[in-house]
Amino acid sequence: MTTSSPDPVLPVHRGSCHCGHLRFTVRLDATRGTRCNCTICSKLGWTGAIVRPDAFTLACDEASLDTYSRHPEIAQRYFCPRCHIGVYGRGHLAQLGGDFVSINLNCLDDVELAAVEIGYWDGRHDNWQAGLRPTPWPIAP
Ligand SMILES: [Zn+2]
Repeated sequence: MTTSSPDPVLPVHRGSCHCGHLRFTVRLDATRGTRCNCTICSKLGWTGAIVRPDAFTLACDEASLDTYSRHPEIAQRYFCPRCHIGVYGRGHLAQLGGDFVSINLNCLDDVELAAVEIGYWDGRHDNWQAGLRPTPWPIAP
């Protein structure tokens, strides 16, 4: 009988909004993140990472949070009702493997953001098939 090495276990990180009402833990690879030039990501300055819902644990009542969505059939974002920081999103997209949580890496409390390798999406132009690239895409057409 052979034994295989266990799957690599990703580290657990802690995160929060600014005022501390919203706290969470998430198991993810925080060495990489994504930014997007779409109308909401660019205004929020969101640095995203996608995880499965069971990797994310919220420490407050989700019903106490504010939400906003441009495409409610795909996803919505959750904001602290006190300090208004956008911390995470929930959604469902087959291309992402079904249900997902998008973590705003800017809200992690134990990660050096300058060390996160950023990939850039061209969401502004629905140019998802182009994939990630190491430099930002323009906003102009
Ligand atoms: Zn807050």
